[in-house]
Amino acid sequence: MFQNSSCFTPNLQPAGLYIHIPFCVKKCPYCDFYSITNGSLHPAFMDALISEMRMTRDPNLMFDTLYMGGGTPSVLDSKTIGKIIEAARQSYEILPHAEITLEVNPGTVSLKQFEEYRCSGVNRINIGVQSFDPVNLQFLGRIHSVRDAHAAVTWAQKAGFENLGLDLIYGIPDQTKKSWLRDLKLAIESEPRHLSCYILSFEPGTPLYRDRQEGRLKPLAELQVCELFETTLEFLSNHGYVQYEISNFARKSMTRSGLTDADRNRSRHNMKYWKFVPYIGLGPSAHSFLDPKRYWNCEDVKKYIQDLEAEKLPRAGVERLSMEQLMIEAIYLGLRQTKGILIDVFDKKFAVNFKAIFKKVIANLEVRGLIVLSRNRCALTSKGMLYLDSIAAMFI
Ligand code: SF4
Repeated sequence: MFQNSSCFTPNLQPAGLYIHIPFCVKKCPYCDFYSITNGSLHPAFMDALISEMRMTRDPNLMFDTLYMGGGTPSVLDSKTIGKIIEAARQSYEILPHAEITLEVNPGTVSLKQFEEYRCSGVNRINIGVQSFDPVNLQFLGRIHSVRDAHAAVTWAQKAGFENLGLDLIYGIPDQTKKSWLRDLKLAIESEPRHLSCYILSFEPGTPLYRDRQEGRLKPLAELQVCELFETTLEFLSNHGYVQYEISNFARKSMTRSGLTDADRNRSRHNMKYWKFVPYIGLGPSAHSFLDPKRYWNCEDVKKYIQDLEAEKLPRAGVERLSMEQLMIEAIYLGLRQTKGILIDVFDKKFAVNFKAIFKKVIANLEVRGLIVLSRNRCALTSKGMLYLDSIAAMFI
């Protein structure tokens, strides 16, 4: 269907910079993000990271987001975080109004640390609270207590971070609607601008996955998970949060003109992943996307350090996406967002007629109440959101 990628126009939006800090105090049994617990490699990792920045400098790109995730970036002190931001500014054009986010584990911070992070240039904090229930925290193998979670939120706000996001996990075995509602209530008490509510997943290779496979753990029934998802949407919508992606919600806030505007409280960085905007990922296991190319780094801190010491980029793979692959990606990413796939943008980008080529699939999904089609949008219903993967596969 596609001859070449010449119909593809370059994306002129500022890019995103992601930095993967591959260290954690302890591995959580549900997590499949790459990280290690050996802190002795911090200094060598820092040198390697700065080399990677120097080697991947791109004068054609400017960035309006810098996101330090992991792993647990808050295992690094504020001086080190400041050094990372400074080095990024030296290698890349980071715009003055850039959103600079730091992911924080409540078990690793203090008020002083938050104050210092703020001085070092961080202007957005995302706290991995996960739950305000001690039983859930224990099940998730988190290093922090409920008290640590509350303290981290209070300290971040006391230190002046207005742009605050919290992560929560639900769908935990034996979790009830009542207990999940309690988590949500406690989460919104501090009025964070952003909430990410993730359904617990059983990722292959994790201890939690093995426990389930070997019958030591009984996951929550699908019907109950669906009920918790519906509860999340209803509760957050009733309390001033707008869902903009399957798991992400932004608080409505008043603008100067008196209108409510949840757009500015979205995670500007994560929006880049869903909107096909270029991003560069640094650090072990980080992925980059420079349309139409995708590449990713090795998942091994030692190898990452060795490669960069030898002035070699720590690449584990690279692929040039074909127009078909880009189209599949556009469908998958579009359906994740409540706005859905913007049909005119899609048609222009891929030189196709979306409604015509997917007529049968759309009709099938519409009848089942999984998708809504309007003049210019194709979006999942809340029921459809629970089946994103299988719905996206139907388009493929
Ligand atoms: S702290 Fe975060 S990154 Fe580290 S193991 Fe736990 S969930 Fe994964």
